[in-house]
Amino acid sequence: MTRRFSGRELVVATHNKGKLAELAEMFREQGLEVKLLSAADCGLEAPPETGTTFIENALLKAKFVAEATGKISLADDSGLCIDALDGAPGVYSADWAEVGDKRDFFMAMEKVRAALGDNPNTKAHFVSVLTLCWPDGHCETVEGFAHGQIVWPPRGRQGHGYDPIFLPDGYDITYGEMDATKKNSISHRADSFQKMMEKCF
Ligand code: IMP
Repeated sequence: MTRRFSGRELVVATHNKGKLAELAEMFREQGLEVKLLSAADCGLEAPPETGTTFIENALLKAKFVAEATGKISLADDSGLCIDALDGAPGVYSADWAEVGDKRDFFMAMEKVRAALGDNPNTKAHFVSVLTLCWPDGHCETVEGFAHGQIVWPPRGRQGHGYDPIFLPDGYDITYGEMDATKKNSISHRADSFQKMMEKCF
């Protein structure tokens, strides 16, 4: 049976400040009085993301944090899937940006550009899987999507990650050119968040 959230505090299983800010804003907009802590606030390292799907990775992150803190956790596993690249970078979206222990998303966007070359098929979608996990191991999971196209050169300085090269369907500006409120109303994370609200809140 689906379990509903009834607490006042959640630990967000991420070290990604962009994701945390977007989720915090979505909770605020819902008017929900839930205090959000991050895994970093709780002194936790990020567990290795050994799954091969967004769902596996969201589950492993959420379970790790709920077990380590004894608190209800919320994990987002997300990424950019490009049709002409058979869904890459997909679950490896963060890895494509890795340089030593840092992340360089301009380099990752250049990699996308090089891999796509002159391919006229620029279709892509973002995926966000959200998993809510209780300390007893019970988890609830939902999946959100946003469809669009890859554009080059990158446009806009807002948002994070691959935002400047993603043009969502129905818009003539990229995620990187959108203000946070607009992105948060149409994004893959807005879709998964809305589904999680309906299911568990
Ligand atoms: P992970 O879920 O921590 O494995 O990382 C997801 C990665 O996907 C991020 O580091 C970004 O590279 C990318 N990503 C996920 N959501 C977004 C988004 O809203 N905008 C841009 N990039 C994103």
